[in-house]
Amino acid sequence: MRHNQYKTWIITEQPLPLKHKKALKAHLETCQHCKKYYLTWLATKQLLNNSHLQIPSAGFTNRWKSSLPVREEREHARQTRNRLAFLIMIGLLANLLYIIRNNLILHWIAAGLSVITNLLVFITKGLSNIGDLLNQTPTIPIFAGVIVLGIFFAFLVTIIFTVWHRLSNKEYHAYEIIIED
Ligand SMILES: [Zn+2]
Repeated sequence: MRHNQYKTWIITEQPLPLKHKKALKAHLETCQHCKKYYLTWLATKQLLNNSHLQIPSAGFTNRWKSSLPVREEREHARQTRNRLAFLIMIGLLANLLYIIRNNLILHWIAAGLSVITNLLVFITKGLSNIGDLLNQTPTIPIFAGVIVLGIFFAFLVTIIFTVWHRLSNKEYHAYEIIIED
């Protein structure tokens, strides 16, 4: 790959001979790939300068170079996720259109109302039962309720954490690799 020669010239810390400088300049005008590489390199250097960090001369170039595939992969993962989110949105939208088109909403509202009515009856019954229980054994139902709620929330948190971890796993690993370097 001829790109590699230019990339080496871009990140070298030694001053380039004029001949190489001219060749590099000409190549950057025609090659988007190397131009992107060059701009990323400039941005990284600027970021380091702005944050008042010294550029560690020898190690920095190598670390930057070796973390490039990782950063590209992370960018790729981000794009994939965006595309997925977009597809899901389109899917939801299509579903919504289908539902509206077929008057399904009215059926759902009817079903929902009957569910709510049943729920209210159930809650009323439950509350009166709980009232009876409270009169008989005042501490046990509350204690049991707290435990059941606790287990439920622990379960919920576990699910949320698992999903979140799955989604961010790739990025997390990429980050780890950069740190190790
Ligand atoms: Zn190139």
